Amino acid sequence: MVTNAMERIINDLLDEYKNRLSLTCTCNECLDDILALTLNGIKPRYVTNPDKVMYVKAEYFDKQQMTSLLVRLAECAKFVSDHPTCKTQTKEHDPYSLPNLS
Ligand SMILES: [Zn+2]
Repeated sequence: MVTNAMERIINDLLDEYKNRLSLTCTCNECLDDILALTLNGIKPRYVTNPDKVMYVKAEYFDKQQMTSLLVRLAECAKFVSDHPTCKTQTKEHDPYSLPNLS
């Protein structure tokens, strides 16, 4: 089975940082939108076995590489937060509410 290792890595990053990304909505659809958008801008790294994701992940222990992934993730999170397409968000969207900084 072929897996894009970046999918797992970005998903983990999103999980770790979602509380710090000032998201206007954290439903699964919005999180998936952020994941897809981020992955579209990143070169995929395929592995033949999910256990091998850690080898790709090891390359991102380099701080500079990790920072550029996080910057990309933050940009995509902002875009999805500004243009939410999910039902939850369009129903309850309040343009005057401040971003949640917690
Ligand atoms: Zn949403």
